[in-house]
Amino acid sequence: MKLNRYKDGKKFAITLSYDDGNVADRRLIKIFNNYGLKATFNLVSGWFDGSDDVVTSSEIPELYKGHEIACHTSHHPHLERLPISLQNNEIYEDRKKLESITGNIIRGFAYPYGSYSKETESVLVANGLCYARTTMSGSFSVPSSFMYWNSTCHHRDSDKYIDIFKNMQNHTWEYGSILYIWGHSYEFDRNNNWDLAEKMSESLSQFKDAWFCTNIELYDYTMAQKNLVFSSDNSSVMNNSCHDVWITGDSGDVIRLESGKTTIIK
Ligand SMILES: [Zn+2]
Repeated sequence: MKLNRYKDGKKFAITLSYDDGNVADRRLIKIFNNYGLKATFNLVSGWFDGSDDVVTSSEIPELYKGHEIACHTSHHPHLERLPISLQNNEIYEDRKKLESITGNIIRGFAYPYGSYSKETESVLVANGLCYARTTMSGSFSVPSSFMYWNSTCHHRDSDKYIDIFKNMQNHTWEYGSILYIWGHSYEFDRNNNWDLAEKMSESLSQFKDAWFCTNIELYDYTMAQKNLVFSSDNSSVMNNSCHDVWITGDSGDVIRLESGKTTIIK
């Protein structure tokens, strides 16, 4: 038995993360939607309705539909330079505003500038946030700590990493691998390379054995998988979570472990 499957028994997961809530998100989301991709958008709520460069609060629920909205602080400070009380204000106020605009519980975060102090993690946890993305890259794995979630690459390097990911499809795999790409939509404007967004999205959509998911969906699935309860002889497994989980059985068959049920697996 192997814990190497994602939703619907897929072998791999692909997720995207875009920061700052620039108006270029409008164009990027059209492309992502066109190719069936899912992304997390990390928004700076103190910038809403104050600049033509930033999305407006009234358009947010419709614009980001089907994707995840996550926190990125109220004003995009260097958190590591702030006293803990001000770090808390930045995170608490951002989450509160995003929740009031969307009506959803917001649980994700990306570190502005990728920086933090030793206190930041406890502030995030106290605010009900369960993962935080860094600006470090190079990982195809489930993070060892979701509070320091390193991506696979920035979109400028996506060609190279998509190729590596393609090669990974041909090998046997022990655990599910993740392709995680991050960036800012305004970079496509600034670098006049929207063709890269199009090409990257098209390449990603070709991965037929991948689950396209937001960051929080990947987090929730991973937690459900980690919380499976196996009998001592591994013949049955209880899934107490509210998400179905898929595993590979000893004979190579894909087994669905239904939410809230115990399944005999051999
Ligand atoms: Zn940012």
